[in-house]
Amino acid sequence: MGPNTLTFILQLLISWKVLPEPVRRAYTPPSLPDGVKRVLLTLQEAGYEAYVVGGAPRDWLLGRPVNDYDVATSAKPEEVKEVFSRVIPVGLDHGTVTVVFANTAIEVTAFRRGGNALSPAGRESDGYSDTIEEDLAARDFTINAIAWQMSDEKSGAGFLVDPYGGIEDIGEGQLRGVVNAAHRFREDPLRVLRACRQAATLDMQVEAQTLEEMANFADDCALCAVERIMVELSKLLEAANPTIGLELLEKVGLLKKFFPKTAPFEICLKAKRALPNRLAALLFVNDVKTVEKSLKKLKFSKAVATLVLSLVNHSQITPSTIERAADVRRFVSHVGEDVVAELLDLMAARELSDVETLSSAVASERASGCPFTVADLAIGGSEVMKALGSRGGPRVGAILKELLDRVLEEPRLNERNELLELLSSMTTTTEKC
Ligand code: ATP
Ligand code: MG
Repeated sequence: MGPNTLTFILQLLISWKVLPEPVRRAYTPPSLPDGVKRVLLTLQEAGYEAYVVGGAPRDWLLGRPVNDYDVATSAKPEEVKEVFSRVIPVGLDHGTVTVVFANTAIEVTAFRRGGNALSPAGRESDGYSDTIEEDLAARDFTINAIAWQMSDEKSGAGFLVDPYGGIEDIGEGQLRGVVNAAHRFREDPLRVLRACRQAATLDMQVEAQTLEEMANFADDCALCAVERIMVELSKLLEAANPTIGLELLEKVGLLKKFFPKTAPFEICLKAKRALPNRLAALLFVNDVKTVEKSLKKLKFSKAVATLVLSLVNHSQITPSTIERAADVRRFVSHVGEDVVAELLDLMAARELSDVETLSSAVASERASGCPFTVADLAIGGSEVMKALGSRGGPRVGAILKELLDRVLEEPRLNERNELLELLSSMTTTTEKC
């Protein structure tokens, strides 16, 4: 009997539940970058154990694209440094060395010990472990506690190591704390937020006991380093279905710790899949000051905050009141060409009436090349100053604005001679006053 027939019979017996699921299971991943293969091989040839761990085995089994590859090894960081010629020692304190192979950066981490080895607080005190099982026990959820070992470099065949039932949970589509959920959340309360985030990104449910414990550790989670919170919240909001994550955050009592008031989650789901758009869709029901405070507290970047605040600030505008072509141009000019598409997207997510009409009107006005800013006018500040003579100063800006308003009403006026004529009539009128 050949090895394939034997594997087939064993798998049949397992599927009939005659044999229990083995902790090690033959598995060939759908894809494996050359760099990762070479890292595994180099470590193995130097006499160490090496596994692909965390997100990659999970995503292979889920049939999802893999974000990044992490390797766990029995080699200690100093030994990893000796084995590879090019390493980036960033993260050495946490047992991590980044190995660069064929322009791919792969994080290689010594087997960790202790449940909180992955939380910043536990890194210094926890040493390294000798076994992959212990390393996997230090991870958050069973679906992330699966490792893969390569056995044949050519065919890419190998074994999955799954001591905590991760494969079964992937089949069930559920997140479950490794061994004991309460212990996992006590070790690192950020895992409460990670559970909400991963449920959203992977479209999964949270197992009942794990969910119960999430509520118990929500307060502690809100006290975690704000940088870690921001990263997970961002990933949650950028998920294909953020509603799953937001509902969980609300259920466990975390949402109100981050944001005072939130819009119905469906709006967030319908908004463009980008962080500022999703944040604006969640928070536009608050006043601008409140949103600004929340974003600052959570340390969102300046670029993200600027766009969110601009969207919230303009969220009072209703498309149905913008009827005339001149009003459409004034709308674009007021909101700004860089923000208008995002605002229309938010309006559409809110299902405001007449958004489609406004969108196509905006598109045709933009395509017509009409000016929307003072800088687009056919004359500039120097001409206005000349016309004003010694009476320049702050009035120059005001006059340019006035000219822009006239041009927005009637774009054909954006000709040098027309504007100079308008300017002279405006300055004489000002003089008379
Ligand atoms: P993504 O696909 O978004 O990268 P991921 O599961 O790979 O998701 P990472 O943040 O890249 O998430 O972490 C890689 C792995 O490290 C996880 O799969 C998990 O095994 C482990 N891990 C990360 N953070 C923690 C934590 N706070 N507690 C326990 N394990 C963690
Ligand atoms: Mg990852």
